[in-house]
Amino acid sequence: MTKEVKIGNLKIGGNNPVRIKGMLKTSTGDIKALIKEAIVLEKEGVEAIRLAVKDKKDIKIIPILKKHLSVPIVADVHFQPLIALLAIEEGIDCLRLNPLNIDKAKDVRQIVRAAKNYGISIRVGINSGGFKRDFSTNKSLAKEMVKKCENYLKLLEGENFFDIMVSFKGSDVISTIEANKIFSEKFDYPLHLGITAAGPFFDGVIKSSIGLGNLLYQGIGDVIRVSLTSPSFWEIRAAKQILQSLNLRKFGPEIISCPTCSRCSVDLIKIVDKFSKKLKKNNFKKQINIAIMGCVVNGPGEAYQADIGVAFGNKRAAIFKKNKILGWTNEDNVIIDLLKFIDKDQDTKG
Ligand code: SF4
Repeated sequence: MTKEVKIGNLKIGGNNPVRIKGMLKTSTGDIKALIKEAIVLEKEGVEAIRLAVKDKKDIKIIPILKKHLSVPIVADVHFQPLIALLAIEEGIDCLRLNPLNIDKAKDVRQIVRAAKNYGISIRVGINSGGFKRDFSTNKSLAKEMVKKCENYLKLLEGENFFDIMVSFKGSDVISTIEANKIFSEKFDYPLHLGITAAGPFFDGVIKSSIGLGNLLYQGIGDVIRVSLTSPSFWEIRAAKQILQSLNLRKFGPEIISCPTCSRCSVDLIKIVDKFSKKLKKNNFKKQINIAIMGCVVNGPGEAYQADIGVAFGNKRAAIFKKNKILGWTNEDNVIIDLLKFIDKDQDTKG
């Protein structure tokens, strides 16, 4: 088990649930929009937010953001030790340091002493993109990432500082999995998982699900950040779905729907899409399984096993709750009828 470390009041590692981190994408030049984005992420369920702090102007944003948010903030600082020191003094909850660009022992020690004085944690974050050379294999990249980190950790530990989290992010799944595996066999610092520069929405969700899912299923990983070239709220939704799929956290209903095939006589894709948007709009949080199935082959079975479900047969559909048929519906009314039954169910369960 990893040791427990805090980002503000948020406990990471140990017996705590795997946490979700997000990152702001708005320019720091537009504070109003930045705050708006942060509030959206908070509503989506982010548990810590990272802010890229590039220069002295950005330092001033830290207290403003903290005033508007209840989740802790992590400063992402590169190249400039002075900016790291100023971010600490301005009240940041955690600092992300990159051993590939803040690497002078004197600077690192000074930052660590300040972090210790202010009682904040540090994430040592190594990304594959920080190496300015090619590696023969993904595994040799993984080994190099861990080696670089181990040397850096000695500097932090030399100052008797142990409030440390670590991350190894490759832009490929294999180096990320390997580096985290190697590190977790030797150290008990909490691991922040992510695939860096994972690509556009579709590619990134798949790479993140495979990489993070593989590690989490092996019990490795204490906090996750999904990186997508997409609006930031999608990263939080994807992270929640990864954790929910592995039964590590529960955030809301799980839809079990069939892929459809030529047996299906209704537009199930449209029905499921509309239904899931409705659940989201109604902010439905109950942790139940809802099956929406296209025909009688697998439909009744899945609908029986779900908390509530519909199975179509021709144009009609039976609504099931566990192993009881509650009623009948059709293509036009299925969404409204399902929502009615779910609402009723929620009422009876309080
Ligand atoms: S449940 Fe029926 S319609 Fe859906 S994929 Fe299976 S066989 Fe096809």
